[in-house]
Amino acid sequence: MQLPREVLIGNGTIEQVVPICKKLGFLKSAFVVTGTQTFKIAGHRVIDLLEDSGIGVDRLFVSSSTVEEVAAVRARINETKPQVVLGVGGGTKIDVAKLSAAQQGTSFISVPTSASHDGIASPLASIKGSEKPYSVMAQAPMAIIADTNIIIQASHRYTASGCGDVIAKFTAVRDWHLAHKVKNEYYGEYAASLALMSAKLVAKNAESIRPGNEEGLRVLLEALISCGVAMSIAGNSRPSSGSEHLFSHVLDLVASKPAMHGEQVGVGTIMMASLHELNWRRIKSKLEKVGAPTTAEELGVELEDLIKSLVKARTIRPERYTILDQKRLTEKSAKVLAKKTGVI
Ligand SMILES: [Zn+2]
Repeated sequence: MQLPREVLIGNGTIEQVVPICKKLGFLKSAFVVTGTQTFKIAGHRVIDLLEDSGIGVDRLFVSSSTVEEVAAVRARINETKPQVVLGVGGGTKIDVAKLSAAQQGTSFISVPTSASHDGIASPLASIKGSEKPYSVMAQAPMAIIADTNIIIQASHRYTASGCGDVIAKFTAVRDWHLAHKVKNEYYGEYAASLALMSAKLVAKNAESIRPGNEEGLRVLLEALISCGVAMSIAGNSRPSSGSEHLFSHVLDLVASKPAMHGEQVGVGTIMMASLHELNWRRIKSKLEKVGAPTTAEELGVELEDLIKSLVKARTIRPERYTILDQKRLTEKSAKVLAKKTGVI
């Protein structure tokens, strides 16, 4: 079990980057992976603070989470051998930094600038262009520095997407339990409870998760980080990713313009909740409350692509047993499901 040692959530926590590095023993060198936009928002400040304290800083800008970007970052880590890699930015920057640091055996610190999914704290990374269209094991961040003053300035769309990724745990945990019952798969009750509790807390506080509300954002960040920790405890993504994620992974491949990860899994959760005979109406209303999409139209995806994704979802990762293996959706039954839940 690999868990984060320092988790800082709050207004102005970015200023703590040097004390955190020193506490963890990174006194000499650091490598900052960021993007051109996120550099202005937070990367610049992180680099200034580290340099002012006498820590040598190297930096690299990445624009997407592809295998090529990971290779480029890995090569630089190999060349300069920093003590720690800091990923400063949204999901893509953090994923690239996390995976390349893990592959080089270097410690990693996560400094998210948005709250769009649970990758900000999980031990997994999602990389485009790899043979697997889903997240792969990397390493848990050694520290997470989530500055609400920075994250609150990101578009609310990211925050709403993050809520979708947390609400997804209602069905992910059900799928995991089902796999345990049917396939005798390992099921960790502690990890499952932690993920489920995060989903319940976000649902309970849905009203306060609105643009500009720091209290609601804090709840979401704590929930996302708890989901990341749940995956670290389980040793895989099971507590956080079930049938609703499989649906989203296929949609990423078939849609001409996929929506954000958390937006897609949120819509998937509504439909998978119906298959699990959970209260899908409540899930839908919670997503509506936080301003997340609940229909194909709001996702901006074609009806045919959505139906295709529902039918194909169970084939994308055959070893991951979910409710979709029991229901075996056809084009016809997928349409009935999407209509029943108001997604189409
Ligand atoms: Zn997710």
